[in-house]
Amino acid sequence: MDERLNLAPCGYVTISQEGMLIDMNKTFLQMTGFMYEEIAQKHIETIMSKTNKFIFHTYFYPYIRLYGHVEELFLSLLHKDGQSVPVLLNGKKANREGIEVIDCVMVSMGKRIGYEQEIRLAKKQLEEAFREKELALSKLEELHEEIEEKQERLIELNGKLEKLAITDKLTGLKNRRYFHIKLEEMIMQFEQNKQSFSLCLIDIDHFKQVNDTWGHAMGDQVLERLAKIAEETVRPKDTVLRYGGEEFIVLLPLTNAQEANHQAERLRLEIEKTTWPIDEITISVGVATYTSEDTRTTVVEKADHALYYSKRNGRNRVTHINDL
Ligand code: GH3
Ligand code: MG
Ligand code: MG
Repeated sequence: MDERLNLAPCGYVTISQEGMLIDMNKTFLQMTGFMYEEIAQKHIETIMSKTNKFIFHTYFYPYIRLYGHVEELFLSLLHKDGQSVPVLLNGKKANREGIEVIDCVMVSMGKRIGYEQEIRLAKKQLEEAFREKELALSKLEELHEEIEEKQERLIELNGKLEKLAITDKLTGLKNRRYFHIKLEEMIMQFEQNKQSFSLCLIDIDHFKQVNDTWGHAMGDQVLERLAKIAEETVRPKDTVLRYGGEEFIVLLPLTNAQEANHQAERLRLEIEKTTWPIDEITISVGVATYTSEDTRTTVVEKADHALYYSKRNGRNRVTHINDL
């Protein structure tokens, strides 16, 4: 055999029509680990696994017979030490001195398969990483939704708490805490527009007697009903608050002394003419109108002073501080 062919970078074999190995180059012998004498004149299938023999029978021979050549047939040869040697085979029928033979070249495929396996593994790892990322992302979205939901509930709850903090439980009116906030607001507005506002301090007359005679529960009912009547009687812009105990405040924005007196009197009358399930209920009222000399404290003190005057002068009456 030509030396270049003998050492060519591929296996080269010539087989007979029947598949007997007639000649083979050194590279082929190195690929399979056999000595020349060990496999010369042996059938090529002796160095193939059962599966490969089957492929050889069903593909190689019929193809060669039909077309005279075979290309890129993938096979595994059996190395002498038992390991399989994957090869890509090209075969071609030839006529040498009147005898039909088949020349075959075989290129080792071991490395390529290794690369393919690495690529497959990398692809699998990539897919797994992608799946994990997707999973983490959807988990994150879930968490995000949960946080938003909780935030909404917190805002809702805060709103409820804020409302509770400024509401009187028994009457549902705004409480003393709200009064201070509102008063501050009204003073600020007064400083801007100089338009006076007034406040009425209301105290139920002889309320202790109601409790003592009819019981505390009845006292509560009177407080609730009185709150309702007051709310229904005042003008839409006025605010009724429970100042504490049996004392209430009405804040009258943009209202001068005369108008405040009139509104207080309307309310006093409304309470007086209401029929109660017990003795009659009356209120005493002290009214003050905010002036530029006043502070948040003095205006309340003035109303309280006027209320004291109403009490001392027979109760069931309205007194404006300006009239003292
Ligand atoms: P005056 O005409 O001088 O105002 O007499 P009064 O009895 O109304 O005044 P006093 O300050 O002596 O009594 C107020 C009573 O109001 C005493 C207290 O038990 C009662 N009271 C305060 N808060 C409540 C409440 O929430 N429910 C009930 N049922 N009674 C209350
Ligand atoms: Mg009182
Ligand atoms: Mg009282």
